[in-house]
Amino acid sequence: STILVTGSNGYIGTWIVRKLLERGFSVRAVVRSEQRGKHLLGSFSTYDDRLELAIVPDLAKEGAFDEVVKGVEGIVHTASPVVAISGHPDEIVKPAVGGVTAILHSALKHGTSSKRVVITSSMAAVEYQSDHPVTYTEKDWNVTTMAESDEKAENASSYAKYCASKVKSEQAVWEFVEKHKSEISWDVSVLNPPWVYGPPIHDVNKPSALNSSAKYWFDAVVKGELPATGSTDPLTSPGGGWIDVRDCAEAHVRALERVAAGGKRIFCAAGYPHVWQDFFDTANGLKPQPYEGSLAKGLPDGIKRVKNTLDSRLSKEVLGIEWCSMEELTRDTLEDFQRRGSEW
Ligand code: NDP
Repeated sequence: STILVTGSNGYIGTWIVRKLLERGFSVRAVVRSEQRGKHLLGSFSTYDDRLELAIVPDLAKEGAFDEVVKGVEGIVHTASPVVAISGHPDEIVKPAVGGVTAILHSALKHGTSSKRVVITSSMAAVEYQSDHPVTYTEKDWNVTTMAESDEKAENASSYAKYCASKVKSEQAVWEFVEKHKSEISWDVSVLNPPWVYGPPIHDVNKPSALNSSAKYWFDAVVKGELPATGSTDPLTSPGGGWIDVRDCAEAHVRALERVAAGGKRIFCAAGYPHVWQDFFDTANGLKPQPYEGSLAKGLPDGIKRVKNTLDSRLSKEVLGIEWCSMEELTRDTLEDFQRRGSEW
């Protein structure tokens, strides 16, 4: 059977395509242009009888996916902007909301062969700011950061604008499902991953070409430069959960395959919370030592101060994945970077 994957050339998307092909699915991989699909076709040439590209230049246009949803048995929608915005939040909110709205409408009208639509949301849509320690559950919404983005507009932080794009696009998903529940022939499963790290297999030829989360990890662990997006204290930042990109992709495939994932919002974190110091300590504890001991050390004896936790029982029950350890993620990623050459 054929699965439609949007954002298929992205960090998470490319791993999802690979897992689906390895499982025996056929994949219709949505990209913005032929050019952006080249690497996929090259990487997965052994599966060329089961992989086809579908070009959708503007994901937020009404009817954008009308043709490409025809005949597929499942849809995985990962495409959404993950970029720093200096202008009005709408620059990121509009394509994010427009993307989910367009794909759901197309699926409603023309995707009747589909059984499940899996949407990539984020913990950014969940983790609200709080003065007291919180255990986040699947009922929570990041209304505090969304409010910051709405009120401060251009002056909100780039992260607040991204959070607003994820809150509003996920809310649009659930509203759509509620409104059209009597008409849709499929159901929806939403995944909320935390920070995604691990070896990239998408089109990345130099560190500056990495997607945001893998770039933060590279800058922090290899270069010792903490991302200036939040606190630059390695004992408190970034503070949310983490997951290996390979597990994140596996979670998407299982969310497609497992009946019980329907209608659910599922957190998928391998660890929660974490700070950069956890990765520094893990990286420096590896034997043999990658990068000949030149990796960031941070403050090895410092006291980590992160208060929040996560209730991730649902992901265990529904997805049942044995998550990759922090050590495995760190070793595989550093070995992958080192193999890429001196720029890394
Ligand atoms: P990437 O930047 O690698 O992938 C983003 C994908 O979305 C790319 O295929 C990109 O296509 C596509 N895309 C972005 N903006 C648009 C647009 N305006 N029109 C069409 N396509 C667009 O990042 P990730 O793989 O990390 O992100 C994938 C999803 O996972 C996103 O929804 C993100 O919010 C979510 N996520 C990511 C986390 C992380 O830590 N990485 C954590 C939690 C959620 P193109 O290459 O053409 O720009």
